[in-house]
Amino acid sequence: MSKNVAVVGGGAAGFFAAITCKQQCPKASVIILEKSDKVLAKVKVSGGGRCNVTTSVTDISALITNYPRGGKRLRKCFSQFGPSDTVKWFAAGGVRLKTEPDGRMFPVTDSSQTIIDCLMGEVHRLGIIIRKQATVSRIILNENEFELNCGNAGLVRADRVIITAGGSPKTDAYRWLEELGHTIESPVSSLFTFNMPDEDITALMGVVADPVSVRIQGTKLQSGGPLLITHWGMSGPAILKLSAFGARILNGMDYAFRVQVNWLNDLTEEHVRLMVEAHRTAHPEKQVGNGNPTKLPSRLWLFLVAKAGISETSRWSDIQGRPMNRLINVLVNDAYAAKGKTTFKEEFVTCGGVSLEDVNLETMESRVCRGLYFAGEVLDVDGITGGFNFQAAWTTGFIGGRACAASLSE
Ligand SMILES: Cc1cc2nc3c(=O)[nH]c(=O)nc-3n(C[C@H](O)[C@H](O)[C@H](O)COP(=O)(O)OP(=O)(O)OC[C@H]3O[C@@H](n4cnc5c(N)ncnc54)[C@H](O)[C@@H]3O)c2cc1C
Repeated sequence: MSKNVAVVGGGAAGFFAAITCKQQCPKASVIILEKSDKVLAKVKVSGGGRCNVTTSVTDISALITNYPRGGKRLRKCFSQFGPSDTVKWFAAGGVRLKTEPDGRMFPVTDSSQTIIDCLMGEVHRLGIIIRKQATVSRIILNENEFELNCGNAGLVRADRVIITAGGSPKTDAYRWLEELGHTIESPVSSLFTFNMPDEDITALMGVVADPVSVRIQGTKLQSGGPLLITHWGMSGPAILKLSAFGARILNGMDYAFRVQVNWLNDLTEEHVRLMVEAHRTAHPEKQVGNGNPTKLPSRLWLFLVAKAGISETSRWSDIQGRPMNRLINVLVNDAYAAKGKTTFKEEFVTCGGVSLEDVNLETMESRVCRGLYFAGEVLDVDGITGGFNFQAAWTTGFIGGRACAASLSE
């Protein structure tokens, strides 16, 4: 008799788990239950519509450092199905990926639809059923069979269940998984941008400084890379990384904190002083506004000069003593008040979810509920931007789907 597998959630992890399971156990009847009327919705909008599928970081030790939570625990999983396996998997489905200079990998078409078409094509080819508007609100284990309550969409019975319901910063979203006996690491947002409603720097929206180093005052949190000034505050990889590694700490601070910026990245105060003094000596008659000794964009330079209380028409020969100290301080020790966070148009993920303690990471099977598997963001795993979150979804989806198929053949 054919066995039934229910996959809860039609996102990246759900599709990958369903496809892998069906490929490895063709006799199984596999259904994807999706609560909304769209599947792969996040894949569609991901990477600004281009879908940052994975990363070129293939060394496992380097790869796991990009996961503020769960990376170390997934080390073995990544060695079973890592970024190069993702590249091969999509290539076998006719999708070529390209690598950008920062290591992010996208389809050569620069369209997330290519990834959706590939996954959808495989689902249709294998005869996997998709049922939309089916919200699983409760799962009951009766003897060896699961009963999935899908509200108006009825009851679904399955021999195995793979939960790929994604993340949510709301604790209530995990209640049905808690009811099955799982521990939920309290969910909070990760990968967000900083709101700075009281800071004038927002007038420079669109300006990028690259690289800068940033830290959160009063904590050990620090990161570096490009920083984008937005009309609401600060964004860009340096800020997103800080938000990811600091997800819990910043939540504990109610998202009110001070961001310290060294606009010249790793240059020390002494180094900057020598650089600026040398410029001053070489160009005494030049106006400070026109003579930018740094590689910072000129709009940002003018803003920082004004912030240091220096007129842009002052001559370099007039800048010494206190004005010089203020200028150097603003270049390497600048600070801004953040109040609140925004996820507008950004890649955002959930920190927290089903505790990895409750999951056998060799198979993704629940340790508290046999026959039930987990994959994707529903787990307490999250990465920084750069294709690391989809990679975790492909990796755990593949391992969960494969182990589920193997258990059916036993
Ligand atoms: C705007 C945006 C852009 C992103 N861009 C990138 C990127 O370029 N690269 C990258 O690596 N990561 C990116 N991410 C993160 C990445 O999209 C997620 O980490 C990834 O989609 C997680 O996949 P998943 O299948 O676990 O969860 P999801 O994609 O969230 O899928 C879960 C699915 O389950 C459904 N569901 C939830 N609860 C139930 C239920 N009870 N019953 C039935 N169905 C349910 C949901 O409706 C959803 O369709 C981005 C995220 C966002 C928000």
